[in-house]
Amino acid sequence: MKDVVVIGGGFAGLAAATRLVEGGARVTLLEKRPQLGGRAYSVVDEATGDVIDNGQHLFMGCYRATRAFLERIGTADKLRLQDRLQVAFIDAASGKPSRLETGRLPGPLSLMSGLFGFSSLSWRDKLAMIKVATAIQFPSRMQPQATDWETVDGWLDRLGQSHGARRAFFHPLALATLNDDPGTASAKMFAAVLKEAFFDGGDGRLGMASVGLSDLYVDDARAWLQARSATVRAGAAVERILVERGVVKGVGLRDGEVIAASAVIAATPASVLPGLVDAEWREGETWWAGLERLTTSPILSLHLWLDRLVTDEELIGVIDSPLHWIFNRNKLVSVKDPSRSHLSLVVSAARALVDRSSDEIVRLLTDELRRVLPAAADARVVHARLIKERDATITHGAGTEGFRPRCQSPIEGLFAAGDYVRTGLPATIEGAVRSADDAAALALAFEPPRLAAPPMSTGGFVPLGRLKKPSEVAPE
Ligand SMILES: Cc1cc2nc3c(=O)[nH]c(=O)nc-3n(C[C@H](O)[C@H](O)[C@H](O)COP(=O)(O)OP(=O)(O)OC[C@H]3O[C@@H](n4cnc5c(N)ncnc54)[C@H](O)[C@@H]3O)c2cc1C
Repeated sequence: MKDVVVIGGGFAGLAAATRLVEGGARVTLLEKRPQLGGRAYSVVDEATGDVIDNGQHLFMGCYRATRAFLERIGTADKLRLQDRLQVAFIDAASGKPSRLETGRLPGPLSLMSGLFGFSSLSWRDKLAMIKVATAIQFPSRMQPQATDWETVDGWLDRLGQSHGARRAFFHPLALATLNDDPGTASAKMFAAVLKEAFFDGGDGRLGMASVGLSDLYVDDARAWLQARSATVRAGAAVERILVERGVVKGVGLRDGEVIAASAVIAATPASVLPGLVDAEWREGETWWAGLERLTTSPILSLHLWLDRLVTDEELIGVIDSPLHWIFNRNKLVSVKDPSRSHLSLVVSAARALVDRSSDEIVRLLTDELRRVLPAAADARVVHARLIKERDATITHGAGTEGFRPRCQSPIEGLFAAGDYVRTGLPATIEGAVRSADDAAALALAFEPPRLAAPPMSTGGFVPLGRLKKPSEVAPE
């Protein structure tokens, strides 16, 4: 039986561990923090007793790997998928409400039907959008596919898209799915989202958890793993990944404990992984050099409790506003006091706001809410709680896809999983789980090479950096 260590207990780590167990491996999952869930978790807000997520997470029908993971651990029914894509919008400039609602038609036709009925777009904008659909579905020499080297806005320029189409549709979608500024983000990543959601059997319906995020997957994944004899340890920080002549041998914990493994899946955030591997094994390898160049983008989530109900919508996209999304938790999860509102206000790619004081951000977003949602104008704020996730996801700047590593690292038996891994998708839950599936398949297939006795080994683990890379060892 293979012994595999998984480092990290977010979506990627937990999904990888379940795949490994299914494949017959003996699994130890190690999570640094006292609780599992990584960047997608929930806690109970002490002041109100309501469950809050560290940030409202949207799923999509096209999250196939994620939905399969939830099926595996038995919680798919806690994720509610829309019958068809339906999103309410408010234009912050005019105060005009509108609704994007796709029809029950196959592929891009469903999106086009939705856009045609979307009153925030002019007919000229709608007709011009056919060009985007054609460029994705039928790329040609005249209209080549979106590349990673052009920005979302550059690509939309190339396809003759108007200011109106960007502000009401493309920019909100790009901000939500890439957590990045359309002026700098990769067109290829954006086109990938459109493709997954609306083309080639895509599924753009939105999904939202009907429970807190930890209840959606963390608690049940842990129970599922433990019921199958996997070891799950929270509060267990890995300090080093142990490597011997280019082959992974296990991990060393911060408290000095060593755990042997025939393969290791590193499911940490991108910024953490290089620090776990001695520089000697990273030098000169583009896989590591790219990883170290990835940067991150913040998301702000303001949980706001108002003394009355202010909307019947589940979610509202706000066009042309520093406030991007209003989620109505009363409609999504069970709340303690249904007579008052629990809203979650979200700002993606929040670089311009994240360094301001919490008081200032709460004031700005509350004022903006009152401005765009008339029913909230006179509502009293009962409680507010701001969560700043500074490193919510990696940035997807044009030209950076090549920095994202693939699962297979240059160290034999060490595989990366996580939303930053190059899956062809932006850094999302689905990217994290797909990379986890890939990493688990690689770990299960991996056969450690038989190494001759290392020259300086005393029989136990050899500290990192003491032995040479395979390329430096003369053939025996
Ligand atoms: C506010 C917010 C909103 C978001 N909204 C959406 C959304 O709507 N839709 C969507 O698809 N995605 C969304 N995302 C992104 C999504 O949360 C991430 O893509 C996903 O959670 C990443 O999972 P992961 O397992 O790759 O990484 P993580 O969740 O970061 O897990 C990595 C784990 O590794 C652990 N770790 C680190 N170092 C060590 C160590 N040395 N030893 C042991 N453990 C270690 C960490 O503590 C962490 O638990 C959002 C993210 C945020 C923050």
